Amino acid sequence: MGSIPINGSSFTRRCADRLHPPGARQRSSKRMHESPSPEIPRSEDEWRAALGPERYHVLREAGTERPFSGSLLAVDAEGRYLCGGCGAALFAADAKFESHCGWPSFTHPEELERVRLLEDRSHGMIRTEVRCARCDSHLGHVFDDGPGAAGTRYCINSLALRFQPEEGHLYKDDT
Ligand SMILES: [Zn+2]
Repeated sequence: MGSIPINGSSFTRRCADRLHPPGARQRSSKRMHESPSPEIPRSEDEWRAALGPERYHVLREAGTERPFSGSLLAVDAEGRYLCGGCGAALFAADAKFESHCGWPSFTHPEELERVRLLEDRSHGMIRTEVRCARCDSHLGHVFDDGPGAAGTRYCINSLALRFQPEEGHLYKDDT
């Protein structure tokens, strides 16, 4: 590879260290989707200020909201679900379904390229983490027991999303 912009390089390095701490290096080679560096080069302080503590914990520290606590769980309106970090359109309302798992669930993202999938071996489980491809924020996990044609269930934190109702439809977000 040729010369890398200094800003991009330092951001990537810092991110990579956070995402793949020492001891977890092997995992970085098991990425299911290769993706370019995040397009939103924010410092962690900037993320914290922009998101507030709850969203920051989920999006930037791969936290999980309590099951059945999310504000978007019961939303059944027309519209789209945007990344809570950068506003990328990630899921369409018609991909949302009631999974009874306690988190908003979708059969598939609007475009597969808008998310990236990583192996997650935390908490004694092997799961597939879902991140926003644009800003690299944590969204949730994907499982293979979904009802749609693809068989996938994207189990996504409400705190990782913002709902954008279709024009003419009203929806009051409580955040
Ligand atoms: Zn994003």
